[in-house]
Amino acid sequence: MFELPKLPYAYNALVPVIDEQTMRIHYEKHHGGYVEKLNVAMSGLSQYEGVPIETILGKLDTVPQAVRTAVRNHGGGHANHSLFWTVMGPHAGGKPSGKLEQAITQTFGSFEAFKEAFSAAALGRFGSGWAFLVVDEKRLGIVDTPNQDSPILEGKTPILGLDVWEHAYYLTYQNRRAEYIENWWSVVNWREVERRFAEAASQ
Ligand code: MN
Repeated sequence: MFELPKLPYAYNALVPVIDEQTMRIHYEKHHGGYVEKLNVAMSGLSQYEGVPIETILGKLDTVPQAVRTAVRNHGGGHANHSLFWTVMGPHAGGKPSGKLEQAITQTFGSFEAFKEAFSAAALGRFGSGWAFLVVDEKRLGIVDTPNQDSPILEGKTPILGLDVWEHAYYLTYQNRRAEYIENWWSVVNWREVERRFAEAASQ
């Protein structure tokens, strides 16, 4: 049912921020593992055939209780990583522009203030989890979640996500999560975040 989406760049495209081996293992083994286990959990539930994982996470209480936790974890992992790969890219970084820049400035005061708040959320997430920029009732917000919980579970649309599980950075950064976060900004693909913002804001 669910398939691992194609990585939109080569495994070494984000070096030195994300090393090639981390990218390979993260994408093939971690994301691949979530997809595999999600498919096991959803097997036999033909009513969800062809339904995007984001839609399913948005109405998780309709999923049979026996597999709900598995769908939350592995489906969340699938959705989160599918977002993560696309909001990064080579020759990226810099700043958002247009309506997203305006909304960030309006909500957080400035782009620098937004970066600080987002980085603090990512750094402060205890253990494994994520930081997200979300659209919530047409307003921007920053949330951090444990494990593979998606903001979609709470009706929020993530438009930027940062994986702070150790598997995302340990080979290069070991325990230095702050350094990983700081460097990560230079690979953020703001054009894709802007696209996702426009899509979420229009709904
Ligand atoms: Mn991950």
